[in-house]
Amino acid sequence: MMIGNTVQEQLDNFMQGLKRRNQGQTEFHQAVYEVAATIIPYIYDKPIYQEAAILERLTEPDRIISFRVCWEDDQGNVRTNRGYRVQHCNAIGPYKGGIRFHHDLSLSVLKFLAFEQTLKNSLTGLPMGGAKGGADFNPKGKSDREVMRFCQAFMTELSRHIGPFTDVPAGDIGVGAREISYMFGQFKRIANEFTGVMTGKGLAFGGSLIRTEATGYGAVYMMEDMLKHHGHTLEGKTAVVSGSGNVAEYTVEKVTQLGGKVVTMSDSGGFIYDPDGINEEKLAFIKELKQVKRGRISEYAKEFEVEFHAKQGPWAVPCDLAFPCATQNELNGQDAETLIKNGCLAVSEGANMPTEQEGVKAFQKAKILFAPSKAANAGGVAVSGLEMTQNSMRLSWSREELDQRLRQIMMDIHSQCVEYGTENGEINYLKGANIGGFIKVADAILAYGII
Ligand code: NDP
Repeated sequence: MMIGNTVQEQLDNFMQGLKRRNQGQTEFHQAVYEVAATIIPYIYDKPIYQEAAILERLTEPDRIISFRVCWEDDQGNVRTNRGYRVQHCNAIGPYKGGIRFHHDLSLSVLKFLAFEQTLKNSLTGLPMGGAKGGADFNPKGKSDREVMRFCQAFMTELSRHIGPFTDVPAGDIGVGAREISYMFGQFKRIANEFTGVMTGKGLAFGGSLIRTEATGYGAVYMMEDMLKHHGHTLEGKTAVVSGSGNVAEYTVEKVTQLGGKVVTMSDSGGFIYDPDGINEEKLAFIKELKQVKRGRISEYAKEFEVEFHAKQGPWAVPCDLAFPCATQNELNGQDAETLIKNGCLAVSEGANMPTEQEGVKAFQKAKILFAPSKAANAGGVAVSGLEMTQNSMRLSWSREELDQRLRQIMMDIHSQCVEYGTENGEINYLKGANIGGFIKVADAILAYGII
């Protein structure tokens, strides 16, 4: 039961309790606040959700597993890292969510990601619960053999906690095709079974077409739907994109295919500004640079003789559309004000929670079309869900079929945002995505009784 007479009192009391139980976990507080601020008004006059303490239960993970990962580097030194899996909620399907390898990964970040994943997976309409995992391992500068040994050691413990009907991990920051292959190989060896226990696998061993592209393509489809709904098109628009990893690359590819022009990409070293646009040929250079050579984005500036701005995000570059696709909290209130001042029309979040709370407020105040990550980047997990279906049926759909399904799922997510987020004739996409994702999970939790 929520404590307090007004919505604001209930929100304040709820957040106080959450912060007390999860001290110092600022990213987790931020993600929960963004959801609670729209869900508490929604359940205020719905005693069925209040009496069953649904929001309290939905903000406490089912379980958190933490473990030591020991491996040997190329010089024969023994190295130790910490691995995690946050199994947040399996009310509507097996736990599902990515694995992140990043040197400063914290439990707070994983808890926010697992919580968001639960609502996002619900929005896709597919039967998947929410989870997230990873390790404070930095793959940068490591040899292939070191990455292989780390992935094998990580999976040796993780394999006890996952399974095709239990928990199905995928990739995320620092975990791409190479890492998924090493981890899946080790699982197969330990379990002596070939099952769809991970998604994002190679095509030769149960992977799905379109999975690699899905998150970026989905973020652009969401943008296309938002623009269309408001009488605009993507064609001829100038876009800024941050990041140069999986999500960013395929965001750039789809914007370009649909007639837009992307003028920036970035990594943690800074951003490049290419006023002529990052065309197919230049994007091929980036894919090779990032996926094969594992180099830095500054090398693009040298290759194509364009500007490189060290240690900055690309938000001061004038644009019509913005796609933050690197990491959490990469776009602050000041960046949002700059985008608005420069005439930006719409933002679609490819990364998870890339906009700080002040930035979200600024976009909403200025009535910028703003698709929050749980809606905008759901395409990746949606195709992961389709990969699970294909693995269970032991068949593979064609690229066209999968792209059509992805397109339809993104349209359905947009419709849910419109259905639950319309207020005074305008669409609050954040509210719509939160409520749309919440209802199905909440109804399942209610149906199970108190467990
Ligand atoms: P990648 O590892 O492929 O790429 C991450 C990109 O972000 C790199 O360019 C990286 O630069 C940059 N980056 C990472 N940390 C920082 C930082 N602190 N400051 C600036 N740049 C940074 O990851 P993905 O593309 O897979 O993931 C990007 C985002 O999208 C994440 O928020 C992830 O959770 C989200 N996402 C991913 C999905 C997927 O299918 N892969 C699905 C849904 C969401 P550098 O190389 O210098 O570190």
